[in-house]
Amino acid sequence: MDIKSIYMDANALLEGHFKLSSGNHSQYYLQSAKVLEDPKTAKLLAEALAQQIKESGIHIDTVCSPALGGLIAGFALATALDVRFIFTERIEGKMALRRGFEITEGEKVLVCEDIITTGGSAMEAGFEIERLGGEVIAFAALANRGFCKRNGSALGRKTNCSLPDNKPLFALADFDFEMYAPDNCPLCVEGSEAIKPGSRGN
Ligand code: ZN
Repeated sequence: MDIKSIYMDANALLEGHFKLSSGNHSQYYLQSAKVLEDPKTAKLLAEALAQQIKESGIHIDTVCSPALGGLIAGFALATALDVRFIFTERIEGKMALRRGFEITEGEKVLVCEDIITTGGSAMEAGFEIERLGGEVIAFAALANRGFCKRNGSALGRKTNCSLPDNKPLFALADFDFEMYAPDNCPLCVEGSEAIKPGSRGN
């Protein structure tokens, strides 16, 4: 499956000067919502990801996604794996499990994002699950931005990856783009202003 073509065909691989949720700047932004607006594509991608997870032999009770970005990918993956789906959300800056969702002691949870960059939000969701007695056994995303080590990829783990190196990350592809600290960004040096994806209509 050529996931890069799927993103390009959906106009979901944006080029410009973006401020990412981590605060870093990048020339590219992956707008997964544009890919997932077609439920058939969402189903196809989630089934390919589910296949990888099944082949690894790990057992999952539940998929949990951090809202908002991971919701559609997580729901589609849970459907393909035929397991429960829950989500965490940020309440006054802190990731929390709300809406009556419960975690049973030892429940095996996979945390799913649309894209894993450094894995910060996924880790925050994971800490909340473990605080409530669950066990985070793996992470998954449609694509990996190249900072974390994806199961089956030759790309190594970089120091700014937040995910633990003893738990697998499943993803369909690596999108290995450069990312810059705001004070060391060549696009800023050229004089343009970084925009936050989702603002100004993008
Ligand atoms: Zn910049």
